[in-house]
Amino acid sequence: MATSTEPKAPGIGVPTWDYVAAPEARTIVQLADRYDHYIGGEWVPPSSGKYFATIDPSSEGVLSEVALGEEADVGAAVHAARVALPGWSALPGAERGKALFRIARILQERSREFAVLESMDGGKPIRESRDVDIPLAAAHFFYYAGWADKLEYAFPGRSVRPLGVAAQVIPWNFPLLMAAWKLAPALACGNTCVLKPAETTPLTALLLADVLRQAGLQPGVVNIVTGDGGTGAGLVRHPGVDKVAFTGSTAVGKEIYRRAAGKRVTLELGGKAANIVFEDAALDQAVEGIVNGIYFNQGHVCCAGSRLLVQESVAESLLRKLRHRMDHLILGDPLDKNTDVGAINSREQLSRIQEYQAVGVAEGAEIYQASCALPEKGYWYPPTFFTGVSQSHRLAQEEIFGPVLAVITFRTPEEAVEKANNTPYGLSAGIWTDKGSKIFKMLGKMRAGVVWANTFNKFDPTSPFGGYKESGFGREGGRHGLAAYLDVR
Ligand code: NAD
Repeated sequence: MATSTEPKAPGIGVPTWDYVAAPEARTIVQLADRYDHYIGGEWVPPSSGKYFATIDPSSEGVLSEVALGEEADVGAAVHAARVALPGWSALPGAERGKALFRIARILQERSREFAVLESMDGGKPIRESRDVDIPLAAAHFFYYAGWADKLEYAFPGRSVRPLGVAAQVIPWNFPLLMAAWKLAPALACGNTCVLKPAETTPLTALLLADVLRQAGLQPGVVNIVTGDGGTGAGLVRHPGVDKVAFTGSTAVGKEIYRRAAGKRVTLELGGKAANIVFEDAALDQAVEGIVNGIYFNQGHVCCAGSRLLVQESVAESLLRKLRHRMDHLILGDPLDKNTDVGAINSREQLSRIQEYQAVGVAEGAEIYQASCALPEKGYWYPPTFFTGVSQSHRLAQEEIFGPVLAVITFRTPEEAVEKANNTPYGLSAGIWTDKGSKIFKMLGKMRAGVVWANTFNKFDPTSPFGGYKESGFGREGGRHGLAAYLDVR
């Protein structure tokens, strides 16, 4: 580590520390040139013979090619899941639990390989994939393994049965974790699954197929079909599907709800969370919570704290601290263990964020961007916030899904509640205050599925997660997560 005596920000007379690069080796990952679908426990080439490239967003280099799923592939996967259903659902719960425990253990054993691959394919910092995505994915399998033989205790006095074949369509922001959120409870409850990963991040789901084989899971219990929105659309409307579980954008969620008529549906959609900082909060801690809330995973987080509601009396000092903190965030190589902010997931997502930047400026808001250099190749966007944002601005209403924070001030708790709830979404919120009583008072008034107090973006498999309003319905995680995959009578 090298030190420099030059102060980084004018007026702050302390030496800065420059970190020497500490990249994680990529050699642990063995990539194939191309990947087929995983159907009935076998690798099956796409019926159309078509493949598409998946790239590393930090370098724009092609990592591999994956199969483009069409109707016949979806049909074959649903058929395999139907064939496997009677055997899997009839297994004693303890046996299903053992299979899930094995998957969890293998994920732990191969966690470094998964973390490196997740960062290569998605652009997120290795620290996050290593310390958040992969351990939480394993934890979900562990947690639901424990429920598999106790389903009747989850719903006392009621009888439960699996729903059947579950179609599960997931996004690109937490690829393996979203697969675990979907597969673990579905399998514990005795369903069989067809999973459709997002087109820009299919690789960890395909590596998971290898884990499923290693764990000895019966063929057809989990099938993975890769492809785009068309593949997903074909899957959710397939007549052989009993249950549709979707995580993704609100627009697609609405379309899926229409197409999946007659099936059980759960939707985990977008968000525009308010992170509310009161004047009595510990401001330094709040700054860490704001940074974690919006710059974690480049802001590609459905529950990101993308609106900062700060009490007027402390707004100036909080923003000064925030600017200082942002200027010390390290942006760059996702595989470097020092990196705080990685690459934007795709060119399309980068364009979308840039469009919102233009909208914010045009609406009259004032922009601040972290003073970090952006690498020449790849998709990059610096941590950003806008001040002077009003409730009617698009920046305050629409989900950007990038490292862009809209700052809004308030004077009273009532005003904070009104502004926080003034959004079509209702997924999450954060409250920062020194007063326990204020936390409880606010909690009851927030229209959001998850509310964090003096912390943000904390997840645990035992805790249900999900939204209100346009953020969707149904819960994932905890005992509530079982209900999404069971017929409870
Ligand atoms: P997206 O809706 O574009 O795509 C999500 C998935 O749906 C992908 O696998 C895609 O191929 C598939 N898909 C696209 N069109 C489809 C269609 N017509 N029918 C069926 N499947 C289709 O979303 P995205 O851009 O990948 O992800 C970002 C969105 O996901 C954000 O809005 C974010 O808030 C949301 N998200 C929500 C949660 C949550 O738990 N609430 C978690 C992560 C992400």
